[in-house]
Amino acid sequence: MNDENDLRLSFEFFPPKTDVGVEKLKTVRTELNKLNPDFFSVTYGAGGSTRDNTKDVITAMRDEGIAVAPHLSFGGDNEDIMCNMINDYKNLGVDRIVALRGDMPSGMGAAMQLVYANELVAFIRKHFGDHFQLEVAAYPEIHPEAKSYLEDVRYLKGKFDAGANSAITQYFFNPDAYLYFIEACKKEGIVAPIYPGIMPITNFRNLSRFSDACGAEIPRWIRKRLEDFQDDQESITAFGIDLITELCETLIENGAPGLHFYTMNQIEPTRTIVNNLGLAD
Ligand code: FAD
Repeated sequence: MNDENDLRLSFEFFPPKTDVGVEKLKTVRTELNKLNPDFFSVTYGAGGSTRDNTKDVITAMRDEGIAVAPHLSFGGDNEDIMCNMINDYKNLGVDRIVALRGDMPSGMGAAMQLVYANELVAFIRKHFGDHFQLEVAAYPEIHPEAKSYLEDVRYLKGKFDAGANSAITQYFFNPDAYLYFIEACKKEGIVAPIYPGIMPITNFRNLSRFSDACGAEIPRWIRKRLEDFQDDQESITAFGIDLITELCETLIENGAPGLHFYTMNQIEPTRTIVNNLGLAD
């Protein structure tokens, strides 16, 4: 079991598309930063669709002195564009990147060959040496395109072999999926930390849509409970906070090295869950 003080805590944002969203995110990050996370991360649209928005948020947060990691994927960009972008991040004082393959932007069809995350990791190591701490994605319930469980674990190993330092997982609600995955990773020789990605529950319809898209399973009993609450937001929030707090406790008790929260650009319920866990400094 890990000591609470050693646990890594990180919060993920997506880049807002509206001025209102940009303003709101300032308040959200100010409040969540009071919990003293190790870093925040900001997602990126494959194909560069949010390239500027991601960089704008990263720049603003660096100006505020906040530790922040951009997510990054090649999308349709060439090596020069990628090098320039990573160099800009380096000059901003960024020292961590979440390196991804990403998905095909809608409408691109087969026009584009995606660059696997292990290739992006190798590319960053080749051009920037050890400057960046590199995070990669991991899938305890296995990536939807993977041909088999073990193949996906081996591709994760390939990302570490290419130079990644640690991984953050897709969210899941069944702790056994994560714990089994960690054992499978160990058997394949992965020794680097794999941080569970935690999705707080606030809205059943959105969660259901997301989960179908990314292959995250909502266990039947949780689905049923959430369906029962219908539009009773107070009950959904209370149930979600209890459920996710318990999930995090189980993960920590079983050796998870920290937690990465998919905040959905909201202060709550992430703040309450982190406080419940006694993780805020
Ligand atoms: P990869 O690790 O490259 O794997 C993709 C698939 O190919 C898997 O099925 C794998 O088994 C297989 N594979 C891996 N390597 C190879 C190889 N060398 N040869 C053949 N097959 C291979 N999406 C976004 O668009 N923006 C984001 O900011 C974003 N952030 C994320 C953050 C986290 C923590 C997670 C877990 C996911 C995130 N995603 C994001 C989603 C992610 O982009 C998708 O899941 C995408 O489909 C896979 O990206 P990857 O980096 O895991 O790909």
